[in-house]
Amino acid sequence: MTITALRGTYDILPPQSYIWEKAESQARKMFALYGYSELRTPIIEQTQLFSRSIGENTDIVSKEMYTFADRKGRSITMRPEATAPVVRAYIEHKLYKDQSLCKFYYIGPMFRYERPQAGRNRQFYQLGTEILGTEHPYHDAESISLAVSYFKSLGIDNIVVKINSVGDAESKQKYNSILKNFFAGSLDTMCPDCNTRFEKNTLRMLDCKVPACKEIIKNAPPLNENLNDASKTHFESVLALLDKMKIAYEIEPRLVRGLDYYTNTIFEITHSHLGSQDALGGGGRYNNLIAEMGGPQTGAVGFAVGIDRLVIVLEKMTANNSTITAGSDLDLYILNLDNALFTDHAELLHSLRQHDIRADICTEQKSFKAQMRSANKANARFVLIQGQNERDNNIFKLKDMINGTEEDIKTINNNVDIDKLVERIRQS
Ligand code: AMP
Repeated sequence: MTITALRGTYDILPPQSYIWEKAESQARKMFALYGYSELRTPIIEQTQLFSRSIGENTDIVSKEMYTFADRKGRSITMRPEATAPVVRAYIEHKLYKDQSLCKFYYIGPMFRYERPQAGRNRQFYQLGTEILGTEHPYHDAESISLAVSYFKSLGIDNIVVKINSVGDAESKQKYNSILKNFFAGSLDTMCPDCNTRFEKNTLRMLDCKVPACKEIIKNAPPLNENLNDASKTHFESVLALLDKMKIAYEIEPRLVRGLDYYTNTIFEITHSHLGSQDALGGGGRYNNLIAEMGGPQTGAVGFAVGIDRLVIVLEKMTANNSTITAGSDLDLYILNLDNALFTDHAELLHSLRQHDIRADICTEQKSFKAQMRSANKANARFVLIQGQNERDNNIFKLKDMINGTEEDIKTINNNVDIDKLVERIRQS
């Protein structure tokens, strides 16, 4: 019996892995540009961290977590998202003591037991940011502008920023009762999930995808029209800043997100190439979570991008000749034409690499033609050739794989002048 990867998990093989690498390195570049530092948290955490922060009645906590008892019977969960772990670390290390404002980013795998489909996996990857210690609307706008600039820097157009405000705790509570009144008369015609949510998490009813429910939901009172003054002012300030930055957005008055901790601004960024799982990323503000988890009363805002989905978009672009090309190129490939010379060639390879030349060597003993094919496959710019014949003549042959020309590289007592060879390779 052969063993395969678990359902909802997958291997990322080259050349696809080059696209992942590009997406992640570009993210690190953008995060540095905006002044964020990396924070790495463990994959496993105490289950309570997620049940308390994300909310007991959310889909994630009630049915999607990878939770198990460890050998001492403690309940452990593999992180389904990174905001709660970042907040835990912020409180545990009292990071608020040194700096009133902390800006972090993270990149890594998350785990949710969902029904796998295109763009939805059980182990998936997110990159994201959190700004902790702020209630300023600028930071909501910065989070959105960073996400949008990141997508643009990868050449991704066709994104839509959908934005809404769920308001502060007071507004949320008031809206909840407005919503309960609105749905109370229609429960008979709504799905069982909506009926459960009516009792436990009314706001989430707005997110139901069942057609009969959607018909009712489209007439639900809009969230953003039921905010108190402070929440309304905050939302308007965020929108004004986005306008100044010329970031296009659509206000979606019934947009909600799957996690309970959000207050005020929430947003989602979608892409037209993604089909039914069209959210590339999302985020929002969470002004009460830090205090609820035992930290100071201070606000925060963040977003997460799904890298799996981002790669789906980038792959489609690559197929359409985008600027992202896959491939790890070599400067030089050394052929293996005579076993007796191999150790000398391996020594040369080692010094070339120490000189930052991307190089490799053929270890197989196969025909010249087959070795040249390997050089081509490795996308080598040059090939270095030395059989016994060349050795007797005190030379290597350097073949330029682009224009096909060959030149002699002289050796003295079988040694190449490494600086000269490096310079020659760098010239092209
Ligand atoms: P969330 O943490 O639910 O706000 O999700 C943020 C982003 O992560 C989404 O917009 C998706 O791009 C991505 N994402 C969430 N769940 C999954 C999943 N199961 N598989 C792949 N990507 C996901």
